[in-house]
Amino acid sequence: MATNRTFTMIKPDAVENGHIGAILEKIAASGFRIVAMKLTQMTTGDAKTFYGVHKERPFFGELVEYMTSGPIVAAILEKDNAVEDFRTLIGATNPEDAAEGTIRKLYAKSIGENAIHGSDSDENAAIEGAFHFSGREMF
Ligand code: UDP
Ligand code: MG
Repeated sequence: MATNRTFTMIKPDAVENGHIGAILEKIAASGFRIVAMKLTQMTTGDAKTFYGVHKERPFFGELVEYMTSGPIVAAILEKDNAVEDFRTLIGATNPEDAAEGTIRKLYAKSIGENAIHGSDSDENAAIEGAFHFSGREMF
């Protein structure tokens, strides 16, 4: 199902380092409308479920520990071509490979602590948005 929505998390390192405002400003300036948003903290169970696709990967344990280490900002965003345009805005997973001006180039510390999440497909955007928000929290 094609949608014009994506899902994002400003990850614990970016929240801890005070980058929420700058990142939201960049997201808004890039034409995304905020459909739902909250400051929250994932439990170990939440993180294991959310990143379940990576459970066999060597970095899974560290990823779960990192994603539960502090608050995150979870949000659903709307824009034409939202999934692809947002992945372009955040840049490559490893900030060393991320293009100039992307959120990860500007704010990520490492391939693990990389400041922000963006859904990789319309299907996953819908699954991930529903994981964090109920229908009455969306606008
Ligand atoms: N990750 C990691 N080491 C790696 C690859 C990924 O710690 O070698 C972490 C990183 O936080 C990344 C997340 O796992 O954002 C999910 O990985 P994925 O390959 O889906 O990257 P993304 O879609 O976030 O760019
Ligand atoms: Mg991914």
